Amino acid sequence: MIEIKDLLTTYDGKKNISFPDWKLEQGQHSLMLGPSGSGKTTLLHILAGMLKPTRGNVLIANENILDLSGAAMDKFRGKNIGLIFQKPHLIESLSIKDNLLMAQYFAGLPKDADRVKEILAELNIPDKINDKPHQLSQGEAQRVAIARALINKPKVILADEPTSALDDENCKAVYTLLDNQANKNKATMVISTHDQRLKDLITNHLILKKETVLVKIKK
Ligand code: ADP
Ligand code: MG
Repeated sequence: MIEIKDLLTTYDGKKNISFPDWKLEQGQHSLMLGPSGSGKTTLLHILAGMLKPTRGNVLIANENILDLSGAAMDKFRGKNIGLIFQKPHLIESLSIKDNLLMAQYFAGLPKDADRVKEILAELNIPDKINDKPHQLSQGEAQRVAIARALINKPKVILADEPTSALDDENCKAVYTLLDNQANKNKATMVISTHDQRLKDLITNHLILKKETVLVKIKK
């Protein structure tokens, strides 16, 4: 479950971004739509506890995440939130297997090599387990990033424009993977996008408008 209320954040002490009150029940999927600069990435970072808003409440899985300290938030995120960035951020010096084991370690979970094999198989890249990130194609690297986000079976999946750089075939494939994984774990999922191709696939929409970004000019 995700709920935001009275949410407002300020950049550089002058740019306010306010968000509409919004709630998503456990297991529901929603598409966050809005033009570039409307605050999609900002809201996903707030939901992931990576950015503290200036004002408001954020409930994730019944936890008021703004009450969590840095270390507690890191652990909570590792266990409960799967975050997929626009570009895969993998650790270049580590194998795919170690990149994934690391995600378990940071969540305070025991290392589970069987789960690594399982998730790579589910994402159709089982043979990449011992490769280094630079040996992968862009599409494969993105699958590994998805595997890393989902390895701990998070109850909340947050994906920031995961399909905008992909051709139609890969767009559908990545969406199907996310949808299957989310349904398997009964996860709540938010995908931010300006990708029109996803609009018909997810019918619950949170629409951000550029007017929510208010710039106060200081004299
Ligand atoms: P979107 O993901 O929808 O393109 P963002 O959340 O990235 O939008 O940005 C929303 C607004 O906040 C934009 O006007 C952007 O310039 C501004 N912004 C984003 N990150 C920062 C930052 N770190 N410092 C100052 N302004 C920022
Ligand atoms: Mg963005």
